Amino acid sequence: MLTKAPRGTRDVLPEEVYKWHFVEDMFRQICHRFGYGEMRTPAFEHTELFQRGVGETTDIVQKEMYTFEDRGGRSITLKPEGTAPVVRAFVEHKLYAEAQPSKYYYITPCFRYERPQSGRLRAFHQFGVEVFGSYGASTDAEVIAIAVHFFNRLGLKGLEVRVNSVGCPKCRSEYNRKLKEFLSDKLPDLCKTCNTRYETNPLRIIDCKEEKCRNVINDVPFMLDNLCGECKTHFEELKAYLEIMGIEYTVDPRIVRGLDYYTKTAFEIVSRDIGSQGTVCGGGRYEGLVEECGGPAMPGIGFGLGIERLILTLENQGIGVEKPVGTDIYVANVGERAGKTAFGLVYDLRKAGLGAECDHMNRSLKAQMKYSDKLGARFTMVLGEEEIQEGTARLKNMQSGVETPVKLEVEAIKAIIMQIKGSK
Ligand code: ATP
Ligand code: MG
Repeated sequence: MLTKAPRGTRDVLPEEVYKWHFVEDMFRQICHRFGYGEMRTPAFEHTELFQRGVGETTDIVQKEMYTFEDRGGRSITLKPEGTAPVVRAFVEHKLYAEAQPSKYYYITPCFRYERPQSGRLRAFHQFGVEVFGSYGASTDAEVIAIAVHFFNRLGLKGLEVRVNSVGCPKCRSEYNRKLKEFLSDKLPDLCKTCNTRYETNPLRIIDCKEEKCRNVINDVPFMLDNLCGECKTHFEELKAYLEIMGIEYTVDPRIVRGLDYYTKTAFEIVSRDIGSQGTVCGGGRYEGLVEECGGPAMPGIGFGLGIERLILTLENQGIGVEKPVGTDIYVANVGERAGKTAFGLVYDLRKAGLGAECDHMNRSLKAQMKYSDKLGARFTMVLGEEEIQEGTARLKNMQSGVETPVKLEVEAIKAIIMQIKGSK
């Protein structure tokens, strides 16, 4: 127990964390260009927020939440997703009073009690965006464009953007009646969960992954064919805006996002490379959620994007992320006095902005050079009595093998290193 992380969790070690930094930096940069500001919310919230904000009939609330009572007797839940906390913060800080739309992004850990498998963890991470205040379909298209642009910049191939409309409360209640009528004599052929869904949230039956349910729903009527005029126009506009940006998409009337408060646009971006857990990004519009969470009637739209699944897709497509070289210079030493000088010099070099390293293990010169090799240091320098007395040493470019005499001064050393680094 003591030396094993809990089931469904994984550590990210320095040898792979650079991939995380790379995708995080890229995501931040793109969000900033699209005019989104970062929102950081706590790792846990009052349980009620998710019950309301995700919805009582969803899988997340019914069986996946990490809920516990804290020492003060409050019911607390670890964030299973990123939207509800952002909505809560939006309402709490009265951000709805500012000029709209309000555009946010987040990078957050999420916790769901699920059966772990490839691409499905109990502690995982999401990128996400949320926009509040805009009813127009251009916003939906912009949100989809962020994800698409992000994937394109990463060089991902074979991703499919699937869009649908799940209507609004008005046309959905009409449609639910139709759907229930269609399913009424097929209930024995549906799974147990879908039998409950039949009463609470029939639309979700279309999304069921059970084989027996899939057979039944082959020829169900779709929401998309039963939209009211307003929802229909909105969907047509969404498609037109996607076309303006040259974003390819397919219309998939089977997309029914898991969350309760979705209205109109629902979309997924699916990778064909990571098997059954192929949905890398999912999102949609939620026109009732802000109000449901205690705010004014104001629409929102956003997506959540699984970082572990994203990195899996990158790996499966053989997309390499360059591992950054952290060590610009390794300063080796011969003798105790040189060891102290090297230690001081390395600190000064670090303060000057270079990645610098020296020996901490009392190694022989040969072993120090081997270690510096392992670090992949760009330059090495050996300090002995002679170098210290003369105030100069030889700086060796490890790639070209060229050695340059240099004064033992930070600026002189930095100048040579930056010349090479800058030309890269
Ligand atoms: P799934 O269909 O895989 O259950 P979901 O509909 O539950 O996904 P969302 O709640 O929309 O997923 O979350 C957005 C994204 O977060 C997903 O598209 C996926 O990339 C990622 N994700 C969701 N659950 C997990 C998990 N348990 N482990 C890793 N990533 C996950
Ligand atoms: Mg799920």
